Amino acid sequence: MDPQLVEEIDSFARSFKDVANRFRLISKIGEGTFSSVYRAEDMEYDAFDNSWDLDRSPEGKRRLSMGDMSSPIAKRQKKVGVGPRRKKYVAIKRIYVTSSPQRILNELVLLHTLSRCDSIAPLITAFRSQDQVVAILPYYKHADYRAFYRQLPLMEFKYYMKSLVTALEHVHLHGILHRDVKPTNFLYDPEKRRGVLVDFGLAERESVDPSYCTCRGYGENNHIRHITDRQPIGGYLKNDPRPGRRANRAGTRGFRAPEVLLKCLNQTTKIDMWSAGVILLSFMSKRFPFFNSADDIDAMIEIASIFGKPKISACARLHGSIFDTNIPTVPDRGFKLEEIVDWAVTGTDVDETEASTRSQVDEDPEKDLAFDFLMKCLEVDFRKRISAQEALQHEFLARI
Ligand code: ADP
Ligand code: MG
Repeated sequence: MDPQLVEEIDSFARSFKDVANRFRLISKIGEGTFSSVYRAEDMEYDAFDNSWDLDRSPEGKRRLSMGDMSSPIAKRQKKVGVGPRRKKYVAIKRIYVTSSPQRILNELVLLHTLSRCDSIAPLITAFRSQDQVVAILPYYKHADYRAFYRQLPLMEFKYYMKSLVTALEHVHLHGILHRDVKPTNFLYDPEKRRGVLVDFGLAERESVDPSYCTCRGYGENNHIRHITDRQPIGGYLKNDPRPGRRANRAGTRGFRAPEVLLKCLNQTTKIDMWSAGVILLSFMSKRFPFFNSADDIDAMIEIASIFGKPKISACARLHGSIFDTNIPTVPDRGFKLEEIVDWAVTGTDVDETEASTRSQVDEDPEKDLAFDFLMKCLEVDFRKRISAQEALQHEFLARI
């Protein structure tokens, strides 16, 4: 093991006696924006499979947890032909002390709330030592998305999507927005065809009384008023006196839904479905990351380059903003997602005039279903975007 890592693990164990007493730290498995995650063995877990049923006395348990092979229970295990227990591994998430206590509490509470779904990593327990908090989760064997997204056939990737959407359905039914759906937060094991959603560090409850955004009262009669409220007549104001809008933009660049980029104050669980769509788009196009903008304005341009200016302008209007650009590559007519994927996979330019006929060449019904599903996830108007519950009924996921 890397000596620097040995030192890091040692110092962690020294400063966190409770954790060191119970868990044997093995390796570092992740370093996210907000935490370091270690793989460890839970030493308090019983020493043999089924041993909970064989001996529940504290003495027996203590002996077993030390792995005493000569214990009466071990002998009995041997006699009945039960092999030594499989070791139990956990993931220790050491949340950086720079995170606010409120944020840490929020993550732990939401993890605890959502513990009852197979597609979500449950919180086993948590420890605090001064300003340091660690969360203990079961360890999930998983593959790096980058290692399989180019190889996996579409039929297999369906399992990925189904598992992800199942997790999201559970999260959303609890009125919670994950806010950071992306491959590194969805631990997928292609062999088991199973994934678990992790990292509720940015998650939040859907507001029951959201702040006002024009999208809430957007109807035939009143939308003009809201638009003109924010629309400077005859161009842009030089020294715009209106305060900038502040909204929760938490998430990862490239995965943010248009309404997040437009600083909508009424964000819903649908933002996660957009991110799930971005993952599917990345899979279909064999490009990761698919969107690669440096900031929110660039991100809007990227999205507009696919869906076209009119559609994004309408989306901006929905949220009381104006979208305008003179960048020539932003088309008036949007592209079909099939065309974008085609272009990404083959590298050939999408010609606007032939574009409408090209996608008709593909006749794989499974692919058609995937594109229909993708289009419904990447619907720029969140009100029309598919929900997790509806997504599970969509033929693409329902027929596995
Ligand atoms: P952060 O908030 O810092 O992004 P995450 O919860 O996303 O932290 O964890 C960072 C990384 O650690 C993940 O991308 C994953 O590789 C690994 N990881 C997290 N939880 C687990 C787990 N329960 N089992 C296995 N690996 C995990
Ligand atoms: Mg993460």
